[in-house]
Amino acid sequence: MTAHDDAPLDPETLLVRGGLNRTPFGETAEALFLTSGYVYDSPEQAARRFTGEDPGFVYSRYSNPTLAMLAERLRLIEGAESCHLTASGMAAVYAAMVCHVKAGDHIVSARALFGSCHYILANIMPRFGVEVSFVDGTDLAAWAAAFRPNTKLAFCESPANPTLELVDIAGVAAIAHRHGARLVVDNVFATPLLQRPMALGADVVVYSATKHIDGQGRCLGGAILCDAAFGKDQIEPFLRHTGPAMSAFNAWVFLKGLETLALRVERMTATAGRVAEALTRLPTVSRMLYPHHPSFPQYDLAKRQMAAGSTLVAFEVAGGRGGAFAFLSALRTIDISNNLGDAKSLITHPSTTTHRAMPEADRLALGITEGFLRLSVGLEAADDLIADLVRGNAAVLALHQQAAQ
Ligand SMILES: *Cc1c(COP(=O)(O)O)cnc(C)c1O
Repeated sequence: MTAHDDAPLDPETLLVRGGLNRTPFGETAEALFLTSGYVYDSPEQAARRFTGEDPGFVYSRYSNPTLAMLAERLRLIEGAESCHLTASGMAAVYAAMVCHVKAGDHIVSARALFGSCHYILANIMPRFGVEVSFVDGTDLAAWAAAFRPNTKLAFCESPANPTLELVDIAGVAAIAHRHGARLVVDNVFATPLLQRPMALGADVVVYSATKHIDGQGRCLGGAILCDAAFGKDQIEPFLRHTGPAMSAFNAWVFLKGLETLALRVERMTATAGRVAEALTRLPTVSRMLYPHHPSFPQYDLAKRQMAAGSTLVAFEVAGGRGGAFAFLSALRTIDISNNLGDAKSLITHPSTTTHRAMPEADRLALGITEGFLRLSVGLEAADDLIADLVRGNAAVLALHQQAAQ
């Protein structure tokens, strides 16, 4: 085999080296540019920067050398034409949605969503005259039936937070495109390593960098990956003028986070598979959801669409809220926290935290019952995590025995 100079680099190499742009000092690690503004050699150069004839930096609400490295690295990993960074994942989701619509337009969304994504669609969009239809995201016929002549956008998370429900991305992309609409996929749970929505037909992919990209629970951030025209004509002016800019410090943390993303996601996913299997053997666990477990309702789609089952496992504990709280209170290693994608294993009770604002009927329709828990599997030893879940199970058993007496 001969090596070609222009051979594409493997994503694992891009995670470490993509977008690297060293200063004349030749620093090994990516430089952190904590500067809000930039100086010009002459008034003529300043004028050319503002017209775009001179490609340098203007102001850190627009861009910054550290952010430019991160955007380029993420763009290369995703294989997208354009990448735009935001202060949080929700800022990325909101920008990706709002840049597609105007008053009188219509959005179709899967109903299985992170609480804040649901809030934007259910509460903010209607205030500006944008109608939203929520569909059962697992049902392609329901998607097809929901499109109207004025539908501009289809939105989904796959896997969805917290139920891990999947959407057939290729199927929905085909339906959306047939209706002249575009598909935005929130790919936070799968990460760019386990699922490639654009290869399946999605037009835009959004991330919360807060999750696996940082991976050590330090910084908030978001990213929008899209085609060049949408990025330049819609996303870029929207972000520049409304101002949800990522801090340079956070961009630097995410650059370092990306270096270990593949290692972390691989290990956490392998552990999540073992944890999922162990949960099926605990008598107080009435339901376990993990996309690459053969019991998963959309197992075939999960195998087709995702390279692995992700770092998240969801399950239901018998005994409603009392059972779930007894389970959580017995844990010694796994922390109770609503973050995810962290090196530390974190568990949350969605119906009283991340999804408490969702109407109860909607929650129950998604299977987010009072006994439902979402576990983000971290980098601890699998046996320690399983021992902790066995502790939770014992606490629920004790509760049931008390109640029976
Ligand atoms: C956390 C999360 C978001 C929001 O990201 P933030 O960085 O917290 O704003 C969006 N979508 C999904 C699926 C998430 O899990």
